[in-house]
Amino acid sequence: MRRPLVAGNWKMNGTRASVAELLEGLKAESLPADVDVAVFPSLLHIDQVITGLSDSRVAVGAQDCAVEQQMGALTGEVAAVQLRDAGCRLVLVGHSERRLLLGESDETVRRKFQAAQAAGLAPVLCVGETLEQREAGETLAVVAAQVAAVLDVCGAQALIDAVLAYEPVWAIGTGLTATPEQAQEVHAAMRAQVAQADAAIAAKVRILYGGSMKAANAAELMAMPDIDGGLVGGASLNANEFGAICRAAGS
Ligand code: PEP
Repeated sequence: MRRPLVAGNWKMNGTRASVAELLEGLKAESLPADVDVAVFPSLLHIDQVITGLSDSRVAVGAQDCAVEQQMGALTGEVAAVQLRDAGCRLVLVGHSERRLLLGESDETVRRKFQAAQAAGLAPVLCVGETLEQREAGETLAVVAAQVAAVLDVCGAQALIDAVLAYEPVWAIGTGLTATPEQAQEVHAAMRAQVAQADAAIAAKVRILYGGSMKAANAAELMAMPDIDGGLVGGASLNANEFGAICRAAGS
């Protein structure tokens, strides 16, 4: 039985004041004991959020890390070891906004995945197809290639302390959500791909769905057998809505 994880990606949002308000809201939510919860604030607010959530069981992650494993001369970047030192426990790698808008390649994503693990952070590897790719019938091939870029180099063992996230690009921030059946098809294919390398690890790895998840659709998505939680963007900026999604993930 996989323990659900609901993760809130706050993206490039928030001021110190609005983050403080969101933290107060989050702390007032009743979160189910059988669900892991994490939030990914902007880098600027990580310290504020870690301090603010220090007496809660909500984990804090970063939205990105440098490809280089060591600290050093790489202006503007933040190393995974620095994130770990700051108290982060997870980091997103390969979010489609970074792949598509900032040109991150599969190799870059794989190097970030490795840097995260080397630093003791759990990488959340995001994969997903564009609308054009879905309409061309390429969804499973595109997602398999993005997973293979990490799996084939790092091995299935690397997924023991990692999380996978299927996020169809056409569903991110658009209000369009994959149907539970569409999402389940991709999640099952991802798990089967990992199972080809190691069936036991495949059975344990958590695969989150992301793409306009909200309280109203979370339960039916997370009821699917291979959907182990959600990576939530817009809706995670509202504490009540995010709390409701976390509760939908509970038993
Ligand atoms: C995301 O950016 O990871 C995401 C899923 O966004 P949204 O929920 O807003 O679609």
